[in-house]
Amino acid sequence: MAKSTAKSKAKPKAAAKKKSAAPGRGTDPRRVRKILDGLDKAFPAAECALHHQNAFQLLIATILSAQCTDERVNKVTPDLFRKYPTPRHFAVADPRELEQDIRSTGFYRNKAKSILGASKRIVEEFGGQVPRTMEEMLTLSGVARKTANVVLGTAFGIASGVVVDTHVQRISQRLDLTKNTDPKKIEQDLMQAVPKDRWILFSHQLILHGRRVCQARRPKCTECTLEKVCYSKDKTYSSW
Ligand code: SF4
Repeated sequence: MAKSTAKSKAKPKAAAKKKSAAPGRGTDPRRVRKILDGLDKAFPAAECALHHQNAFQLLIATILSAQCTDERVNKVTPDLFRKYPTPRHFAVADPRELEQDIRSTGFYRNKAKSILGASKRIVEEFGGQVPRTMEEMLTLSGVARKTANVVLGTAFGIASGVVVDTHVQRISQRLDLTKNTDPKKIEQDLMQAVPKDRWILFSHQLILHGRRVCQARRPKCTECTLEKVCYSKDKTYSSW
């Protein structure tokens, strides 16, 4: 008798465990739609803040923007692009001279190396044109998925993924769109949660949202259009 009672009690426990493994509420499509609507309301025409006139200039500006503000990059690039107007000019640049030209953006030795390497490859392998696929972009020196997504999305309108910079990383965690901390995994989560036709605009909007509203140290939650759908523990104001 005792044996059969223990067996009958075990079944409901297993069923309860299965139920709690259901997906979280963060990426529910109706909630994601509300997040997208809130971003549209706040930033209807969000775009890349790096000044550029073509895909190659955007590539160089994006490489320079690592660990540097867009404002600083935008101060350096006008003279830089006057001095080196095409990939060919960059490809044959004197490394020491290029380093000095971009010195104020920080990490200038590595950045000069990346710019020279990427420019040479663009000239030698891609006929002087920035390639239009993620696979080819990733063969360029100093280019990882973040930079490739910026260039493909902004310059060519190709939705290859979601740009995951420090702002996107922080906000997608606060909005419970991901539980991951690795940018590659965060990007995969966002690509699953957000419709593909929104990837490009969504990236720009989240970056702007991070700069102006959902700031790292003290988010301005009372001004936030996502406040009603946000249940982050970092909130500085709560209507929940
Ligand atoms: S409510 Fe606050 S924490 Fe949530 S997204 Fe808005 S600014 Fe960020």
